[in-house]
Amino acid sequence: LPVAPEGTTPVGVMTVAGSDSGGGAGIQADLRTFALLGLHGCVAVTAVTVQNSLGVSGFQEIEPDTVAAQIRCVADDIGIGAVKTGMLASAPIIDAVAAQCRASGIGRDAAVPLVVDPVCASMHGNQLLADSALDTLRDNLFPLATVVSPNLDEVRLITGIDVVDAATQRDAAKALHDLGPSWALVKGGHLRSSDESPDLLYDGSEFVELTHERIDTPHDHGAGDTLAAAITCALAHGYTVPDAVAFAKAWVTRGLAAAYPLGAGHGPVNPLW
Ligand code: PLP
Repeated sequence: LPVAPEGTTPVGVMTVAGSDSGGGAGIQADLRTFALLGLHGCVAVTAVTVQNSLGVSGFQEIEPDTVAAQIRCVADDIGIGAVKTGMLASAPIIDAVAAQCRASGIGRDAAVPLVVDPVCASMHGNQLLADSALDTLRDNLFPLATVVSPNLDEVRLITGIDVVDAATQRDAAKALHDLGPSWALVKGGHLRSSDESPDLLYDGSEFVELTHERIDTPHDHGAGDTLAAAITCALAHGYTVPDAVAFAKAWVTRGLAAAYPLGAGHGPVNPLW
């Protein structure tokens, strides 16, 4: 497990994402995983959501310049071992994040790996990314990503491919990889026909299949964020992408098994050290 050896200063990692007032997903989930995995969590807040276990009732975006400035001032001082993006809300925020990542040496061809979790909607169907931002996401951010980690709803929005089986999952991985990331991860957790949660990872030449048992629980709020956060931590510790994803998959599976009810809706995943 990737934990900083005792006595060493924790490496900084950053999440560029939205706040979840209910504490289950977004920045709050990311910081929980960062801390549990021995890393120093930094944040660039993109939006403040008004949210509880029943859903997102609204959000306010942060000015794009302020989002970029958060990344810049942390990169210039604290230093960052890896970065993840989550909810980015709008095209202007995506543009600002992409430009700042390029300027701060963050991305697939730079020193600092970038995990892009293309959050489009909450599990309740509340929209977290403007429709008009999909082109910007594909054109400006995907080409910078070390790994992209869409779920099947996000795959449909981004590539137009409806993943229903292993063959269409491969088609989707190829289509996502064509958009420019080093690796495309197609999460199969929403393939409701399966007893397993089959994820597929692709780098343009090699398919890596990662399968875990499906944990059947309504309390899976923040599962996608937690997976991407754990990938980010493992990359910061120098793991290869396939090893980082395998680690993160085990991490989130354990978190789902330990998830607890909270409120009247969906409780949060509960990653445990
Ligand atoms: N709220 C914020 C701020 C998020 O970043 C995300 C997720 O990725 C969600 C809500 C949605 O999480 P879930 O799909 O687990 O409800």
